Amino acid sequence: MTLQSMTAMLKRAQKYAYAVGAFNILDYNSMKAVVDAAEELHSPVIIQTSVKTVLFWGYEPVIAWARQLAENATVSIAIHLDHCKDLKVIQNCIDAGWTSVMIDASTMPFEENIALTQKTLEMARPKNISVEAELGAIVGVEDDIHVKEQDAHLADPEQAVQFCHTLAIDCFAPAIGTAHGVYKGEPRIAYHRIEEIARRTGVPLALHGGTGLSEDVFYRCIALGCAKVNISTQLKYAHINGFVDYHLQNKVYNPLKPLQAQYEALKAAVMENIKLFGSEGKA
Ligand SMILES: [Zn+2]
Repeated sequence: MTLQSMTAMLKRAQKYAYAVGAFNILDYNSMKAVVDAAEELHSPVIIQTSVKTVLFWGYEPVIAWARQLAENATVSIAIHLDHCKDLKVIQNCIDAGWTSVMIDASTMPFEENIALTQKTLEMARPKNISVEAELGAIVGVEDDIHVKEQDAHLADPEQAVQFCHTLAIDCFAPAIGTAHGVYKGEPRIAYHRIEEIARRTGVPLALHGGTGLSEDVFYRCIALGCAKVNISTQLKYAHINGFVDYHLQNKVYNPLKPLQAQYEALKAAVMENIKLFGSEGKA
């Protein structure tokens, strides 16, 4: 199949109360593991690329891998640019063939966030590319998770409604208490806000910072309207550990062996998440 946008994929997930996994890849091996996992479970999937990863390899190689893998797959696959503040990078991805982009102007004042997201929509719409935007600040791995501080970063429901009514975005990422990286304590998820924002905006929500959340947290967030779940940190661990563990156990200087072990570790992690998100059999 050809690569497609997230629009129909997420609407369907929202309607039937499951979520599509968006898995951050690092190279061809990890991208293949994501696609093969989705294919094996007959699930739609989002190949997610960070700006850093795209700039590390260049636009053309990354899109070429995705196109080739999608052509040989039977499931719906989108390729999505994660958290991007730079409209030039977004334009380059659109020109190269990405089917979905995220504009992250969440650190800007509200009006500027709206203006930059609007600009992104104008760039993306003519090519039927889906757009994700963020409101509030999703706490990062370096930040201390103090409750008061975290509360201050949550998306305001009134602003969320205004944001989504002004902008025809396909996916909305309001800060609702999850964090990027590894959780230091028990995450405090603002379920009431997820529920209110999902209900009042009607837009499929993205759950960022998926790594480390419990099954119960996933089920609850997905039931409330999170139709996209981002998984990055868990795959970074699988990427490194899959390779290193094999080498430490076998000490054979045939790089294809640890690369194969890395692929298996990544694929297993992706399959585990797809099952958890309920998208198995939904391709
Ligand atoms: Zn994120």
